Amino acid sequence: MAKETKELTVEEKLKILYELQTVLSKVDDIKTLRGELPLEVQDLEDEIVGLNTRIDNIKADIDQLKTDVATKKVDIETAKSLVEKYTEQQNNVRNNREYDLLGKEIEFQTLEVQLAEKHIKEFAADQKKKSEELEESKLFLDGRAKDLDQKKQELEDIVSETKQEEEKLREKSKKLEAKIEPRLLLSFKRIRKNSRNGLGIVYVERDACGGCFNKIPPQRQLDIRSRKKVIVCEYCGRIMIDPELAGVKIDVVDTKKKPARKTAATKKKKED
Ligand SMILES: [Zn+2]
Repeated sequence: MAKETKELTVEEKLKILYELQTVLSKVDDIKTLRGELPLEVQDLEDEIVGLNTRIDNIKADIDQLKTDVATKKVDIETAKSLVEKYTEQQNNVRNNREYDLLGKEIEFQTLEVQLAEKHIKEFAADQKKKSEELEESKLFLDGRAKDLDQKKQELEDIVSETKQEEEKLREKSKKLEAKIEPRLLLSFKRIRKNSRNGLGIVYVERDACGGCFNKIPPQRQLDIRSRKKVIVCEYCGRIMIDPELAGVKIDVVDTKKKPARKTAATKKKKED
C-alpha cells in the first residue's frame, strides 16, 4: 500500500481528492436530509409526553371532584338523619330550653345540607369544564400522535432508502482515502471542515478560485494547469485544480446562466 501511494503523480492525487470530495459531499447530503427528522421526531415525542401528563392531571382532578361529590352526599345524608333524630327528640322534651336547643341544632344541620348541595353544584360545574378540557386535550394528542407516526415513517423511509447508498459511499471514500498520503489527506479534511460549503478542493472558474472567487494570477493558473504541484488558494486555502481535471467542461461563451456543474460523480451516474 505504501509503495502504491508513492507511485501516484500529483495529478492522480488531485483527481482522487476531487473524487473523494464528491463522495464525502454525498454522505453529507444524506446526513443533512436525515439530520432534521430525528430532531422533529424527538420534539413531537416530548410534546406527547407533556400532553399525556396534562391528560393524567385532568383525569386526577375529575376523580377528585367525583370523590368530593360523594363525600358531600354522605354529609347530606348524615345531616338529614340528624334533623330527623332531633325533630323526634323535640317531641319528648321536658322544657322550652331543651326544645330551643334542639331547634338550633336542626337549623344548623339544615344549613349544612344547603351548603353541601351548593358545593355539589359547584363540583359538577367544575367536572363539566374539566371533562371538556379532557376531550380537547385528547383530540390534540391524537393529532400530534398522527404527526409523530408520519415523521417516524418518513425517517424510517429515508434511513432504509439511504442506508445502502451511505454504506457504499463510505466504503468508496475509505478506498480513496487509502490512496492519499496522510498529510495531504489531513490538510484536505481540515480545509473541508473549515469551509462552509464543505469544499476543500475546487476548480478554477473564469480565472478565479471556485471557492472564494478571488482572481488567480496568470502564472498560478499555469501552475495549476501543469498539475505538477498541489496549489492552494492564497485567500481561502482551498486546493485548486483545472476544470478538465475535475471532469468539468466550462462554456467558452459567457452567458448569464451559470455553466452546469458536472462533477465526476454526476457524470458517472449519467453513464450508468
Ligand atoms: Zn479561494
